[in-house]
Amino acid sequence: MPELPEVEVILRGLLVLKGLAVTGIEAPRPGPNTPVDLESLSSATLERKLEEIERRGKYLLFRFSGPREVVFHLKMTGKLLLRGDFSEYARYHRVIISFTRGQKLIFNDVRRFGFCICDSNDTSCRTCLPEFGPDPLSPSFGAGSLSGSAGDRRLKLKNFILDQKVAPGIGNIYANEALFRAGLNPFRPVNTVGAGEWESLARSIRELLLEAIDYGGTTLGRGWSHFCNARGEPGRFQERLMVYGREGEACVRCDNEIRSMPLNNRSTFFCPLCQEV
Ligand SMILES: [Zn+2]
Repeated sequence: MPELPEVEVILRGLLVLKGLAVTGIEAPRPGPNTPVDLESLSSATLERKLEEIERRGKYLLFRFSGPREVVFHLKMTGKLLLRGDFSEYARYHRVIISFTRGQKLIFNDVRRFGFCICDSNDTSCRTCLPEFGPDPLSPSFGAGSLSGSAGDRRLKLKNFILDQKVAPGIGNIYANEALFRAGLNPFRPVNTVGAGEWESLARSIRELLLEAIDYGGTTLGRGWSHFCNARGEPGRFQERLMVYGREGEACVRCDNEIRSMPLNNRSTFFCPLCQEV
């Protein structure tokens, strides 16, 4: 599933659409998990100018003149494609939005868990968004926001940073990587984390996400189901992952073996030496 860096990489690839107006909408294969209300989508976008695209956690929010809004969530295999020949994958095209200057935004989704929701005449689609904490790339995110949310809870550290009210946009890959970089054990209760450790975790999260964005995001496998940017190109950050998917391999810092254990049914990768409890 695309996490914050992948969604941000997609967003940056779509900014060329800003200022263009929508000239047509098609929903060739909406599918059961991609409910698209074509009427609402047309009324929210058609002949309107795209004014802004913003990211909220893993959601992308398109603001059109009016103002009207449309929100996309890519879930497992959703993609937003802009340039290139994607006719080979046309059977997975869910929604196509045509813009002036011949631009076409394609929402393509193999597994069809992704969705788009839009404003109707009387309801804003923002009401469908969950509550988010401060974005990890914003100045309001930091040791203070982390320790403030943690309070005296006994929640395990990795589950804590997967909470979208704590670090919106972080998913399993970047939670594992951030904790390794900060040298913190994923199973530690949050009420045992000290001020200096929160500083280190906040810094690790921010640096990790910025680096992953610079490398175009993480693409874990080959084939069309996996992440690609708006041009259909895979990311390169998978080559820089230090613990995720590296069970049994040597730790890049201490040469000890990377371990994996389930936590809430998600694989949790860590170095028992560098991330001692
Ligand atoms: Zn180690």
